[in-house]
Amino acid sequence: MTTIGVLGLQGAFREHIRSVEASGATGVVVKKKEQLEDIDGLIIPGGESTAIRRLIDKYDFLEPIREFGKQGKPIFGTCAGLILLASEIDGSYDVHLGLMDIKVRRNAFGRQRESFEADLDIDGVADQFTAVFIRAPYIEGVGEETKVLARYDGHIVAAQQDHYLACSFHPELTDDHRLVLHFVKMVEHSRKSLAM
Ligand code: GLN
Repeated sequence: MTTIGVLGLQGAFREHIRSVEASGATGVVVKKKEQLEDIDGLIIPGGESTAIRRLIDKYDFLEPIREFGKQGKPIFGTCAGLILLASEIDGSYDVHLGLMDIKVRRNAFGRQRESFEADLDIDGVADQFTAVFIRAPYIEGVGEETKVLARYDGHIVAAQQDHYLACSFHPELTDDHRLVLHFVKMVEHSRKSLAM
């Protein structure tokens, strides 16, 4: 059975477990770096990226998560998780994991639009996907290897680069599990190729 860990330091991690299980995989909350050895893919949830980063440092997760990604194991960053994956953050010298070739802008939709829902077409994944945005970032630019999966209002809100997946919104907060299912399939695929 494919096992997917959800980084459980801060933010919306419990909801992701429900979504992973609805997509046919086993979900585990990851609170210690040693648990990375027991999972096939990792979700970094939404929350507050600066708070998650503080806890990543406190529990010594930064290098182990980088190593996990560099082994070819899939990572899905949602909202704050997307910010943590990015190689560049607009207006900041800070980069967290820096695993994905994307430049992000935090809280990019402005104060008037702290949270909202929008119907998106996610390329190759889902049409008419109701996405929940909460103080969401967007992606300002992507590298050559990164595929844009969805835009909202002209801004990139979902992208994939090999085994890294990222979205600006919270796919775990509705009963539409198609994007999490897409990630589960990425993880199943990588399990097969890493076992060869
Ligand atoms: N605004 C948050 C941040 O900058 C992200 C919000 C979210 O994850 N819903 O980290």
